[in-house]
Amino acid sequence: MAVEAPVKDARTLVEAELVSSVAWLIRLRWLAGVGVLLGTWSTRALFGLGAATVPLYAIGAGILLYNLAFYLVEQRLTQTSAATDSFRRLSVWQAILDWLAMTLLIHFSGGIESPVIYFFFFHIIIVSIFFQPRTAFGFAILAAALLSAIALLEYYTILPHQPVVGFLEGPLYKNSLYLAAVLFFFTSTGLIGAYLASSIQKRLRQREEEVIRLSESLRRATVRLQTLNDGARVINSTLDLPQVLERLVKSTAEAMGVRACSIRLLDKEKQFLEPVAVYGLSQAYVNKGPVDAATNPLAHRVLGGEIVNIPDISNSSLLQYPEEARKEGIRSVLSAPLMGKTGPLGILRAYAVELARFTLGDETFLGAIAAQGSIAIENAMAYKAIEELDLAKSQFIRTVTHELRSPVSVVHSLLRTLTSGYAGEISGQQLDILSRAGRRVEYLQKLIDDLLDLAVGKADFWKTEMYEPVTIKGAVDKVVKRFEVVSREKGLTLDFQDELGTGAVRVLGTPDGLDRIFNNLVSNAVKYTPPGGRVTVKMSCVGEKVRVLVEDSGIGIPEEAMQHMFEEFYRAPNARSIEREGSGLGLTIARDLVMRFGGSIQVESSLGAGSRFTVTLPLAAPA
Ligand code: ADP
Repeated sequence: MAVEAPVKDARTLVEAELVSSVAWLIRLRWLAGVGVLLGTWSTRALFGLGAATVPLYAIGAGILLYNLAFYLVEQRLTQTSAATDSFRRLSVWQAILDWLAMTLLIHFSGGIESPVIYFFFFHIIIVSIFFQPRTAFGFAILAAALLSAIALLEYYTILPHQPVVGFLEGPLYKNSLYLAAVLFFFTSTGLIGAYLASSIQKRLRQREEEVIRLSESLRRATVRLQTLNDGARVINSTLDLPQVLERLVKSTAEAMGVRACSIRLLDKEKQFLEPVAVYGLSQAYVNKGPVDAATNPLAHRVLGGEIVNIPDISNSSLLQYPEEARKEGIRSVLSAPLMGKTGPLGILRAYAVELARFTLGDETFLGAIAAQGSIAIENAMAYKAIEELDLAKSQFIRTVTHELRSPVSVVHSLLRTLTSGYAGEISGQQLDILSRAGRRVEYLQKLIDDLLDLAVGKADFWKTEMYEPVTIKGAVDKVVKRFEVVSREKGLTLDFQDELGTGAVRVLGTPDGLDRIFNNLVSNAVKYTPPGGRVTVKMSCVGEKVRVLVEDSGIGIPEEAMQHMFEEFYRAPNARSIEREGSGLGLTIARDLVMRFGGSIQVESSLGAGSRFTVTLPLAAPA
């Protein structure tokens, strides 16, 4: 199994440290140069000692001068964003020149007697911090060698001794024991210092790399979690199965940063895995051949619930079509099972063009996406099944009601013939019975009409192509007029308030559909408002929409019934008690039509005080 890819940023951080340390050393060196100049001046001026001031001033000035050169080079490297190697070379040169300056400084301030020799340790520590231990030891040994060289050359008077006059009571540079002791302690302190500084630095660097690695994997985990969340939101934002699958493959490939992703689902017989959604693969590859769930070794394992990582397709016996995959440019694949509540649904697979592309983290990630995707797929499948069932139900209703319609209307007209006396004299009692039968048949006819409306609405009869701009005022006006007589007879005030201003406001729909919407609402308002009450129909424009209110001061709707208002066949108990006949379909039909026309319908009510239905429809664009 592949391991997590090495952390890319770790080196860059160490490199960044080196780059910034170059600038820091240059800043420090300004102080060192000025320090040498001041020290030289104070030797004579403050302490009254004699020293080789000219060479010492020259060394101070030399330090400042070469530091200026380093400063200019450093600026140029920074501006041109030069490679780290250039900075590394610059810091090696700095160390070499510092060593040289230190050697000269020691020589002109008394050689082995000079207190300046201790300053070498600062340099050794700095070098140990910024370079590898081997280089640090090299510089420590070089310092010891240079000091020994000066000491020995002065000892054998090959090089003139340059003492700080008045500093020591007697010269020590000729004292071989002193020489040996100082050189021994200098060398050992330098080496031990280099060792301590570089081992502390090494440990710190390891920790730092560990922290970087951890924060990097934390960042990756956060990104994945975020992707998983986003993915879930996107996938669950639709119940349309093809859309769910499309989004799933696309978001998976993008989140993992791989070439392709696919979903194969088991067919109805659960024998073959059919490609249902693909992202980033050629059609030729997708259609490469049937994948038999039982015989395909990879499918068999994945459908068994395993996440299978194939780091190199060329030496895996699990793939059924390795040659086709190779031609497609695929090198490694990762497959995760899509598991439903009752068993496997299919396989989610990610494809990469790199060898061993998928890590342990990717396996967990794909597994999580697959688990989440399975729920979305099952939901979409369930929704599709419900839709199909609903359609089948509507078709059934349509067929049955269609068959019922003609005999019922024949019965109705026969009864009318009887009651109007065209078929001979009938007694008063017979007339009463026949009239009651007539009313029941009329109700039956209305119910059949409603059922047909409902079924037709569901069966996608109202195709968008059939919509036309309809003047809303005309549609509502016709309905209100229709109910004027009934309202008057019932003792109701029917009020029509048109706040549209112009009669030219139009909505997109069908005249018949709009008539049914408002007919159902106004007829309910009239039906469920006791005598003496008021029914108001109000029209107004709100932005790009037209709003029609149908308000009444009737019986109202009980709170517990509100949520069922638009359900098929639902009737609230208070409505049932005052009006025995009613299909409970009027509002469902109205709601279906309003939604088809791109609008919305809302109800507000207060029991015993009245109800208000608000229909909002988008305005038709001007022709
Ligand atoms: P129906 O009127 O045939 O019963 P609808 O679908 O038109 O069927 O209405 C469903 C139910 O909604 C009614 O039975 C009634 O309980 C309630 N309802 C509808 N409109 C009103 C209204 N204006 N006032 C009170 N209740 C209403």
